[in-house]
Amino acid sequence: MYEKTLTQLAAALKSGEFSSRELTAHYLQRIEQADGKLNSFISVTAEQALKQAEVAERPSGRQRRAAVRHSPSAQRYFLHPGRETSCGSKMLDNFIAPYNATVVEKLNAAGTISLGKTNMDEFAMGSSNENSYYGPVKNPWDLTAVPGGSSGGSAAAVAAGLVPAAMGTDTGGSIRQPAAFCGITGLKPTYGRVSRFGIIAYASSLDQAGPMARSAEDCAHLLGVIAGHDGRDSTSVARGVPDYVEGLNAPLSGLKIGLPKEYFGDGLDPDVEKAVREAVKVYESLGATVREVSLPHTHYAIPAYYVIAPAEASSNLSRYDGVRFGHRCDNPSDLIDLYTRSRAEGFGEEVKRRILIGTHTLSEGFFDAYYTKAQQVRRLIRQDFLDAFEDVDVLMGPASPTPAFDLGAKKDPVSMYLQDIYTIAVNLAGIPGISVPAGLAGGRPVGLQILGTHFAEAQLLNVAHQFQQATDWHLQRPAFAEEYA
Ligand code: GLN
Repeated sequence: MYEKTLTQLAAALKSGEFSSRELTAHYLQRIEQADGKLNSFISVTAEQALKQAEVAERPSGRQRRAAVRHSPSAQRYFLHPGRETSCGSKMLDNFIAPYNATVVEKLNAAGTISLGKTNMDEFAMGSSNENSYYGPVKNPWDLTAVPGGSSGGSAAAVAAGLVPAAMGTDTGGSIRQPAAFCGITGLKPTYGRVSRFGIIAYASSLDQAGPMARSAEDCAHLLGVIAGHDGRDSTSVARGVPDYVEGLNAPLSGLKIGLPKEYFGDGLDPDVEKAVREAVKVYESLGATVREVSLPHTHYAIPAYYVIAPAEASSNLSRYDGVRFGHRCDNPSDLIDLYTRSRAEGFGEEVKRRILIGTHTLSEGFFDAYYTKAQQVRRLIRQDFLDAFEDVDVLMGPASPTPAFDLGAKKDPVSMYLQDIYTIAVNLAGIPGISVPAGLAGGRPVGLQILGTHFAEAQLLNVAHQFQQATDWHLQRPAFAEEYA
């Protein structure tokens, strides 16, 4: 069963090949057998999942979302009442969410079944999943490699066939980069397309939730469920949700593809470049035209991001004070001791680094020099994309400069930050992006990143789907997945 995509599973469920309970039990068994080696789940909620499957099997008049109904999935750190939602942090170890995130509510209403919470970098800060309080996740393509981050658990679980689809969030690349490293498809929607209500905040002006699955078609089904306006998130956009599945089969003839020259420069692994250029050739054979474009401010994306994201994070994380929720130190001598020791004990090293940077750049005297300047640069980066989309329909390039690197290989924070060189500007601009499997480099997957203008998700999914009709990279599985029944 696990080798099927979400769309194929839906057909099999419909034809009665197996039941929702059998399917759920199958995945739970795979998690039990394989996850000891991967560490892709922080918590597995088997009992609740089987109960949900039973409910999903009851005849219901409204089977609109047939493709996702009965389908198991896993969420990262979306609040889910009664379920542990730790966000990869000791600070929230054993924290039980009091209410539903809108994304969870929508997935529940569509009849999907939640198997548990996937592992992730602490508070979504990282590019390798090595910053998790619960230990690193292994890449199922090679257990000595990282799965990418911060949605590394979601990506590894989907690639290993422990779950057919999972949710991630992407603040600077955390859906696309792990999707690329694990050979799956991951979509970061336009900022505002999906409600952030009930998603633990990292950098509020950049965070966006999206689907991670085997195929663009699966992502189209899931995005249709989770997208839409939500009165509880004032940044979610009141705009109709198109039928993303219906839009998948538009022909690509005449599609204008831009290749940003800044995405093919120094630091790009030659094997990754080769795979991406091969993929672009496939598009040419499908009738697309290709030209080089420029995004001149690309170089400033990482510095601007590492001012804005830590600034927002330092503010968002100030709520963890040991008083209202989260970790509390033992025997505080007074209130200040309670705050400082609870935070010192509860947060990991990378989170503390970001809080320090963010607090510094927001402080009087530095605010204009850093924060205001970074916001000005952000505007220029956004304008680069808007200018490029005057001339071309989509942009293509690598999702990441290298394939998955070895666990423990990146010791200094800056080399880790550089991992997101091709993904981070997209969040600063608020546009959507998708990573699709496009080959292997040294046995490790390569992701092709496709970018579109604001609210171009339907087009991106169509462009990705057509590639997946012409190639089978997205259907390839690591040998690890085949080791379990
Ligand atoms: N790697 C980036 C960071 O550490 C992006 C993470 C993300 O998208 N959540 O902030």
